[in-house]
Amino acid sequence: MITSEVHVRTDILAFSDAALQQEMEKLGWQRFRSDQLISWLWEHGVRSFEEMTNLSKQQRQELNERYYIPRLVTDKVQYSTDGTVKFRFKLHDGYMIESVLIPVDEEERYTVCVSSQAGCSLTCKFCATGQMGLLRNLTASEIFDQYTEVNRCCQERYGRKLSNIVFMGMGEPLLNYKQVVGAIRRLSSAKGPGLSPRRMTVSTAGIAKMIVRLADEDLKVNLALSLHAADDDKRSTMMPINEYNDLQSLMSALKYFNQKTGNKISYEYIAFAGFNDQASDARNLVRLCSHFPVMVNVIEYNPVRGSDYEKSSEDQINQFAKMVREQGVMITVRRSRGKDIDAACGQLANQEQNPISKTIPTS
Ligand code: SF4
Repeated sequence: MITSEVHVRTDILAFSDAALQQEMEKLGWQRFRSDQLISWLWEHGVRSFEEMTNLSKQQRQELNERYYIPRLVTDKVQYSTDGTVKFRFKLHDGYMIESVLIPVDEEERYTVCVSSQAGCSLTCKFCATGQMGLLRNLTASEIFDQYTEVNRCCQERYGRKLSNIVFMGMGEPLLNYKQVVGAIRRLSSAKGPGLSPRRMTVSTAGIAKMIVRLADEDLKVNLALSLHAADDDKRSTMMPINEYNDLQSLMSALKYFNQKTGNKISYEYIAFAGFNDQASDARNLVRLCSHFPVMVNVIEYNPVRGSDYEKSSEDQINQFAKMVREQGVMITVRRSRGKDIDAACGQLANQEQNPISKTIPTS
């Protein structure tokens, strides 16, 4: 009797290294071959088994029959005159996400801003991604792949590898916790790019219990809180998440993070005209800087369609920063990058209708 074996192909990037090694053992592979496979997948970021040239033709064929490599597809790239490059990637199910390459040549810093979710459930009023709702969580490999693709571009365009990663793109990283931590471990692994976690920053809109969990994770990553307003009433108006995670609970979670890890904490503070850029706002902000060492980054707003908020003038931002600095707080002003492209978070992905509009629970 003739039998034919049909394999349903499996996502090979979903395996941990240990699980993949076991899988390969079952196929009779020697350990060093599995190591080669892992290196192709995570160090070289190959898109097909055919590129794994130190594996035999038969082994590549065997892989092809059983597995697939679900890499991102670059859908659109925009180049700003200031060197910023924005990418729109299509996921295997058609959803769009964004990543941004931000070069700061004088400091030799090449940063990628990656997304952790397609869309976002947190509906911050100033954000284009918040208007989309949550479409779905990204997998660790989809987060990792943004690094791989943007790093390729960085090397071609600037002759340099990416030096820093910020989890500040679409989505709330701490609501896709497991996959984000998985991506951080991949990115910092010696069997991957081997990036120092000290050069990675997880940015959160502020989920107190998840900040505590991250502190206990034993990762050396930095943490940024998207603060944007230093009193609860204003913050809740603009960021609904603040109603369940008020400033007091956030301050105690951050204090715990600082004591447990010693890793850097920063506040991101987008300046909105007449809303959070006045002297009383500066005083409130200074008060929130007294609990642990913290650096404040004041950011010029990149207005998005459909938002009622407007950007503060350059003079007002400078004046605000001066008031805070005079109270002994470390503060920098970051000019908005990529003004000539759709650089605000979610703006580019939102242009293209994501295929299914639904809200799913976050993990
Ligand atoms: S600012 Fe961040 S947390 Fe808020 S809606 Fe946008 S992506 Fe989500």
